[in-house]
Amino acid sequence: MIPIKPVGAGAGKSTTPARTIDAAAGVAAQYLQPGALNLAALPPLSLYIHWPWCVRKCPYCDFNSHEAKGEVPEKQYLDALRLDLEMALPLIWGRKIHTVFIGGGTPSLMSAAGLDRLLSDLRTLLPLDGDAEITMEANPGTFEVEKFRSYRASGINRLSIGIQSFNARHLQALGRIHDDGEARRAVDIAHATFDNFNLDLMYALPSQTLDEARADLATALAFQPPHLSLYHLTMEPNTVFAKYPPELPDDDTSADMQDLVAEMTGAAGYGHYEVSAYARPGHRAKHNLNYWQFGDYLGIGAGAHSKLSFPHRVLRQARYKQPKSYMEQMANGTPIQEENEIARDEMGFEFMLNALRLQDGFAPNLFSERTGLALNTIEKQLNAAEAKGLIYRDHAIIRPTELGHRFLNDLQQIFLG
Ligand code: SF4
Repeated sequence: MIPIKPVGAGAGKSTTPARTIDAAAGVAAQYLQPGALNLAALPPLSLYIHWPWCVRKCPYCDFNSHEAKGEVPEKQYLDALRLDLEMALPLIWGRKIHTVFIGGGTPSLMSAAGLDRLLSDLRTLLPLDGDAEITMEANPGTFEVEKFRSYRASGINRLSIGIQSFNARHLQALGRIHDDGEARRAVDIAHATFDNFNLDLMYALPSQTLDEARADLATALAFQPPHLSLYHLTMEPNTVFAKYPPELPDDDTSADMQDLVAEMTGAAGYGHYEVSAYARPGHRAKHNLNYWQFGDYLGIGAGAHSKLSFPHRVLRQARYKQPKSYMEQMANGTPIQEENEIARDEMGFEFMLNALRLQDGFAPNLFSERTGLALNTIEKQLNAAEAKGLIYRDHAIIRPTELGHRFLNDLQQIFLG
């Protein structure tokens, strides 16, 4: 539902030789094998929990979501999540969790009792920060007042709602299960129950006009959501839309829509802080910011990805994607399908892939804090990006320029080499 996936998931990447010496966390730098990383401190840690089922699969969706045919095996899945977390604990021993994100899929298909159990399992097993941001994704069509009150009482303090559009015709074209009335009702319930919530909206929808995009955004802004995620619809491979492409607005119209988004959100007092993210003051998404600042995350559940740092290596993991295989593998104690370390020569790109998404960029010392490498390891690439006018940098900041934002892919590619 929310396209906030760990970018650069690192599948199939080689392992660094530093792995064998990682256990000796305090080992002096001169004993490290060449190429080992040197992280002075570990980044903030988030927890991602994946719920893999939806009522129906949307034709544009390439997330790990599966149509719930019949009853969802909620208890079995929650058992698997608990076991998953218990088994992962040695990797994050002693570290506090700053944010939790329950994503999917449609996690709001979970019963109130199931969610309550999940959060109490987390609290039993993990040291959660006192003011941890705990977000749950929810889709209109699954909103019941009592259930959402119960979610709030169990500890969810931020809701992210997959509205996508308030226009009945576009919702239908997107294959969504909700109509415009349910979309509005969902936001009303969120408003009444949660202080903090996000609306996901898409533009450049099949046959959408500029006026229709304006009307959608105006409706969203009228609810005064603390946070807005505004995505340009894209045709992802292996989706129904990739196979049977709908008629989309032309490039000029979709560029006008992009300008409209900037204009209307700015006028309404929202800060544009990441490619698709807009927030009222004090409401940036902490969980997502941690991804973009190359923080750590443990991902549990079907298909979830993790990025975990140690003093001399950074580990990536991916769990089995199919809910059934995940639960079976979990029962055998082997939920991890892929595991590898980010190679030293890929670290700069991995960091920049995330950090360059931020409008304000990053402080230069964040690079070495998060990668364990000196900033001069990417000096050549920084110079090349600067020479092309794609980044601005001084002693305090490195950030994409206007041009860099517009050609973000080109800018990110520079750090591949
Ligand atoms: S609701 Fe649709 S877009 Fe969201 S995860 Fe489910 S299938 Fe994908």
